[in-house]
Amino acid sequence: MTETLPDLLSALVRLDSVNPSLVPGGVGETRIAQFVADWLTRHGIQAELDEAAPGRLSVIARVKGTGGGRSLILNAHLDTVGTEGMTTPFEPTIRDGRMYGRGTYDMKGGLAACLFALLEAKNARLQGDVTLIAVADEEYASIGMQSVLKRVTADAAIVTEPTELSVSVAHKGFTWHEITTHGRAAHGSRPDLGVDAIAHMGRVLGQLERLGRDLTTREAHPLLGQGSLHASLISGGQELSSYPDRCTLLVERRTLPGETPEQVSREIDQVLEALATDPEFRVDHRLTLSRDPFGIAEDARIVHTLRLAATQVLGQRPAIIGQSFWMDSALLAAAGIPTVVFGPCGGGAHATEEWVNLASIEQCLQTLTITLRAFCA
Ligand SMILES: [Zn+2]
Repeated sequence: MTETLPDLLSALVRLDSVNPSLVPGGVGETRIAQFVADWLTRHGIQAELDEAAPGRLSVIARVKGTGGGRSLILNAHLDTVGTEGMTTPFEPTIRDGRMYGRGTYDMKGGLAACLFALLEAKNARLQGDVTLIAVADEEYASIGMQSVLKRVTADAAIVTEPTELSVSVAHKGFTWHEITTHGRAAHGSRPDLGVDAIAHMGRVLGQLERLGRDLTTREAHPLLGQGSLHASLISGGQELSSYPDRCTLLVERRTLPGETPEQVSREIDQVLEALATDPEFRVDHRLTLSRDPFGIAEDARIVHTLRLAATQVLGQRPAIIGQSFWMDSALLAAAGIPTVVFGPCGGGAHATEEWVNLASIEQCLQTLTITLRAFCA
């Protein structure tokens, strides 16, 4: 039976949907997407599957409005991170009002709330359309969301990632950079011939650390604090007895709303240019990936409507927050869809003991229901 929130969530957790791009051999979203589509069809809602890549399925399900109302997207992701260190990740257990298991919190709890909210939308006969998009690959490269956004739009979107029932209106973006220093390979006994690419990367690291410190002195975003920068991976050298001819460093920069990939790349270029006074110092830098930060005005209609609904459900005004980690909300916002993030309480996302508070999923569902009745009326 999957007619109650805990039962439906339990069924979703039992379906392994580990992201195969993140974890080689991961099962992927095929089975869970099929389950979600079948569940919706059984409840009289037509659902389509969108295949971003072979085996990487997302679900799109629309409850058509009677016409003239505002349209709304409800969003959750189908995939989870891996399960290393967990003994029974796909056997959900309930203790003290919490459900434990991989994906309970991030984010099958939100998905279960979205599914029941869509049934409520159907029963409410609203003027505007309500569309559920349950997407693949959020935990890796968001190919699911990118593919679905070619086919779906709306006047607003709610992402139901966990927010502890607070209203999240901002998160950081990030950029990935590859920096390579070029030296000259030579026998270790011939300093007259060799140029040490690893030592030159040391200069780069010193300057990047300085840039990182500089970022902490800049004006803080009210919800997100400062941007940041760190070294992630480094490789270089051929063998112990030779001068290394190259060294490659991968760097991640976390960005704030208003910072562009061009700006942050330019800052890194300036650091490298400052080192180029040494004619032996040769370096390349390229931006390999960028994901936008996310921010929406607190007085945007969807934020206001959702906050009022949550106040009604919770008996107090929910906090307005920002979150440090990146989410698909940035892609929805970049597609021109005003977006807000609101979801249940719990803990252990990406950790070995993951759990969600079941009462908070119910409160999330009630908040979604009141919001869509108000927004799409
Ligand atoms: Zn998530």
